[in-house]
Amino acid sequence: MALEDYANDMFGCSRCSLCKWIPQNQIKSWRFAQGCPSMDRYHFHAYSGSGRMIIGMSILDGRSELTDEVAEIIYRCQMCGLCQVSCSAIRDDIDVVDVMYEERALCVSEGFLIPEHMDLIESMKKEDNTLGKRKADRGNWADGLDIPNVNTEQVAYLFHAGCRYSYDEDLMEGARTVVTLLRESGLNVGIAGKEESCCGGRAYETGYQGEMKHFAEDMAGRVRSSGAHTLVTPCADCYYTFKYLYPKCGIQMGVTVLHITELVDQLIKASILKPQKEIPLRVTYHDPCHLGRRGEPYLEGWAGGNKLERPIRFKQMGTRGIFDPPRNIIQAIPAIDFVEMERIREWSYCCGAGGGVLEAFPDFARWTAEERIAEAESTGAEAIITACPWCERVLKDTVVNAQSNLKVLDVIDLLKSSMGGEETI
Ligand code: SF4
Ligand code: SF4
Repeated sequence: MALEDYANDMFGCSRCSLCKWIPQNQIKSWRFAQGCPSMDRYHFHAYSGSGRMIIGMSILDGRSELTDEVAEIIYRCQMCGLCQVSCSAIRDDIDVVDVMYEERALCVSEGFLIPEHMDLIESMKKEDNTLGKRKADRGNWADGLDIPNVNTEQVAYLFHAGCRYSYDEDLMEGARTVVTLLRESGLNVGIAGKEESCCGGRAYETGYQGEMKHFAEDMAGRVRSSGAHTLVTPCADCYYTFKYLYPKCGIQMGVTVLHITELVDQLIKASILKPQKEIPLRVTYHDPCHLGRRGEPYLEGWAGGNKLERPIRFKQMGTRGIFDPPRNIIQAIPAIDFVEMERIREWSYCCGAGGGVLEAFPDFARWTAEERIAEAESTGAEAIITACPWCERVLKDTVVNAQSNLKVLDVIDLLKSSMGGEETI
């Protein structure tokens, strides 16, 4: 697809601006009514989903030129998808995020590049990860765990740690915890160790769509040769990439894709994992965008031109992602006091890290995280729980900078503490 394939979407935008907000019937206070971090931060229409539609239309019509300044506006967006879901609530015929994907691809093809994204892509090409780390160190997070390696053994479950869990020393204990829990539950789970590669999703989201296909084909080959029937990941970005972007680009892996919270939720329901220790903590849950509203499966089968005629199931409503499993895990912990924030599920507010913003505009990422932390604090929670290492990273760093007392935890860390594991809270 190219930007011109979305001309009807862009032309059809009525500039109603509903994509800037969560819907009126979801608003609980003026303080937390905004939905688009980019609009919330920069206050000009150009920074909204609608603004980016008008930018795209104007470029296509030859009324505007793509410049460094325009490219920067396009990239000051987390690709969180709130605009898409808000628009889909009232319109059948507009796919806002797809337009923004093609604008980014146009920026790359026309040479309007963000230097930090070039570094990211270089790291992916040279070392198979987004963090500028050595490929040779990728499997070190699992040292000493004696996990089967899919390069030499057939397994039922392939655990894909993802770049952040593989290299972030502050977080990698979470990956060790979860893979240990799976093995103790009797699952035949393996890893690819240093042969694991980036999923490639960050390349697609920053406009380097062709680069992602290379990673996707590599990943599909590894999954097939592993013998696994299920690919499981603790990273929301990887999950979205496997579940949505690969099929969107025609890459089929032929296995079930699960986020770790789905699998752990199943194990708790089957009484295989039993949280027992009381954790008397007031907590709230942050829905990662790429696990929640963007974590919908990609649906194939409709290729019509007029989107007004498409069956409703092909709309990106944001409601078919993973919302309940992490909440089920939290609520299975004895004595936990779970409270919801105002913006939740498909109307969740982004943590700030997505879409290449953390790499290119860290000030904007932190500003967005501060907004989310303020919302969590307003519930009286002592801890904000999430289910993605990228959310955890930016929220943790921002809590420290803001000198907030809020704890930031992954849902699996919380579970481990309740199972009598090492104290993490
Ligand atoms: S993108 Fe959708 S919600 Fe936003 S202004 Fe256009 S029509 Fe309205
Ligand atoms: S994807 Fe998120 S940050 Fe970007 S325009 Fe839409 S709501 Fe705003």
